[in-house]
Amino acid sequence: MDSMYWNKKIETATRDELRKHQLQLLKEKAKYCYDNTAFYRTKFKSAGISPSDIKTLEDIQKIPFTVKNDLRDNYPFGMLAVNLEDIVEIHASSGTTGNPVVGAYTTNDMNVWQELMARSLYTTGVRRQDVMHNAYGYGLFTGGLGFHYGAQKIGTRIIPVSGGMTQRQIKIMKDLGSTVLCCTPSYAIYLAEAMANEGVDPRKDLKLKIGHFGAEPWSERIRERIENKLGIEAFDIYGLTELCGPGVSVECNKHNGLHIWEDNFLIETIDPKTGDVLPAGEEGELVFTTLTKAGLPLLRFRTRDISVIETEECECGRTHSRMMRITGRSDDMLIIRGVNVFPSQIEYVIMGFPELAAQYQIVLERPEALDVFTIKVELTEKTSQSTQEELNVLKRRIRQKVQNITGLSPIIELVKPGGIPRSAGKAKRVMDLRSGKI
Ligand code: ADP
Ligand code: ZN
Repeated sequence: MDSMYWNKKIETATRDELRKHQLQLLKEKAKYCYDNTAFYRTKFKSAGISPSDIKTLEDIQKIPFTVKNDLRDNYPFGMLAVNLEDIVEIHASSGTTGNPVVGAYTTNDMNVWQELMARSLYTTGVRRQDVMHNAYGYGLFTGGLGFHYGAQKIGTRIIPVSGGMTQRQIKIMKDLGSTVLCCTPSYAIYLAEAMANEGVDPRKDLKLKIGHFGAEPWSERIRERIENKLGIEAFDIYGLTELCGPGVSVECNKHNGLHIWEDNFLIETIDPKTGDVLPAGEEGELVFTTLTKAGLPLLRFRTRDISVIETEECECGRTHSRMMRITGRSDDMLIIRGVNVFPSQIEYVIMGFPELAAQYQIVLERPEALDVFTIKVELTEKTSQSTQEELNVLKRRIRQKVQNITGLSPIIELVKPGGIPRSAGKAKRVMDLRSGKI
């Protein structure tokens, strides 16, 4: 019979077993990092500790954090713990918030990543009989190849379509009988709208049943939209280049958070301001330690992603902790005319308008003394046919809603479908052009 687990022993291990396994690996990795990288040797010495001071899981708090800038400062290979000859594949982040960050993998790192992606896909019901339409970008970005490797391990048929050429994507999905869709949530919405315009009814004309959406923050409102429009069950999947790429955590069919694969990652939540470790259940910045990586191992890596961790066993029987949806990055709060604004607040407003596609961009400028706050939003194919008068009414309604929530009155710019730029399929939500000015 088909098991619901990819690896039952690991996925349902008791918390005690998991912690024991983690402690063993943590001790080994602390020593490994100290012995093999000048970077960690210096960090340990400046904190006055040595690897033998790590005797319990809590002792991890003695180790200083690693931050994104450490990776950038040591670009591209300064933090490698192996010889460059042992690196068999390299990826790089899309650089949403700055210069790219390099991910370098040994053969074993590749095997672990593939195993975790297979486990993640399997957890959501992807099987050998499925046909996976992979619209994540193939290339340096970890999304495309990460999903590819995972599906390959399960034996699922992969359609490596990558990003772009939306009409062709729909045709391929139809003709090749895709059952699983993998892409960014913003592209899923875009695809759904394009289908409606082409007169393709996903429920009748397609065989899609499962969707894997990640690489950027999305909300329950977006999930509802995607599920309704495409007639599928949508799963959230999380990862980042620094840790391996996608496959760090994934939702199970209970949809109550994303299981973090704790046999490979040790998770902590901290107060982003003070760095204090927070108890489970409290919202904070996620900090990961890689327990199995060899090429570019990281101890206490600050992701800047904000979430809440729950440690009780899930109804699905898996014991691995769950992280709730990412609500934002600790560095994404905008200060506009002195007012604190989060892009997620703007998204919430936009998702309340069926006339709008789920694509938006916040543009901040300061031509003179005052901040100019513009929100660009994409119309759907249908509403882009509206009269100027109808569009003006729509603009006023959006502006009013934003004002109710933030107290600020933005300029609303309505753009044609597809008018908001995207990189590696990820929507770029904020364009802050104010830097360098007082
Ligand atoms: P970049 O930092 O350039 O975006 P990555 O491609 O490595 O580089 O993206 C990792 C980041 O993408 C994560 O730190 C997180 O902010 C975001 N991300 C990935 N998956 C999700 C998800 N499911 N929900 C919210 N954010 C996500
Ligand atoms: Zn579960």
